[in-house]
Amino acid sequence: MSASLPSQEPFVLAVPSRGRLSDGTLELLRRAGLHAPRQPRSLLADVNAHWRLLFVRARDVPEYVATGTADAGITGLDCVEESGHASELAVLLKLGFGRCRLSVAVPRLKGISSVEALRGKRVATAFPRLTERFFEAQGVAVEMVPLTGSTEVAPHVGAADAVVDLVETGSTLRQHGLVELATVLESEAVLVARAGPRALRLNDKAQRLEELRLALQSVLDAQARRYLMVNVPRAKLDEAKKLLPGVTAPTVLDLLGRADWVALHAVVDEKELNGLLPALKRLGAQGLLVLPIERMIS
Ligand code: AMP
Repeated sequence: MSASLPSQEPFVLAVPSRGRLSDGTLELLRRAGLHAPRQPRSLLADVNAHWRLLFVRARDVPEYVATGTADAGITGLDCVEESGHASELAVLLKLGFGRCRLSVAVPRLKGISSVEALRGKRVATAFPRLTERFFEAQGVAVEMVPLTGSTEVAPHVGAADAVVDLVETGSTLRQHGLVELATVLESEAVLVARAGPRALRLNDKAQRLEELRLALQSVLDAQARRYLMVNVPRAKLDEAKKLLPGVTAPTVLDLLGRADWVALHAVVDEKELNGLLPALKRLGAQGLLVLPIERMIS
């Protein structure tokens, strides 16, 4: 990323040091031009004089950002909401990976089929804040059993009647004979910074934060799209254009020495490609090329 703005201090971005969100975060940052060679076990890595990564636990990222040790952070939305700093932080961008949900789950064979039926029961969770808020909002008083991990075993050993835990596919819950009753929160990795009076403002760090947000956004927008190049008979141009909306409209280029053909270039949604390619073939299109896009700003 450009180091265009003068600054004495590097912009510090707190990122997960290990665990489920670490690889996705570093890959996204690399694509956005923030590649930091990291020494094993080191807490800090400088990308250049202007950008510094601070490697911490995903659940600690909100604390580092809220207290000002870091200028921004990447972590799970669940970590932000559970942290006790949610009101001091602003979610600037959803990053599309680390998707999961915080769910209420109960043993399959215990005949509990509603949240209401958990009144007065014990609920084990590593997310006491979100859990308490959820049951309060439902008007159902429960007894909290705070744990730090492996929550799903609690019902088996008689330590709880239900759990509130993160679920991605549901297979871990199933393995433990648990079924989901309700969703407390839908989560994914997010970019966060301070909100309110302590937000970065009108200084070069605020500009750098916007630079970061835009860079990440451009990578996310690009990864869902492909650049399509295709030759079509000129007589089929109108029909082909209708298939290819592009960001504004497709680019139409002449082919040297082939007045009866044109080349079309367009940005297309990746998920539409499989339908689009045979439709173009049916129009007699040739030489179809599909290329990845690194960044895209609409
Ligand atoms: P870690 O404990 O460091 O591996 O990171 C856990 C974070 O990864 C959670 O706070 C979620 O934001 C995210 N995550 C995504 N899928 C899952 C899942 N199936 N179980 C736990 N955490 C998940």
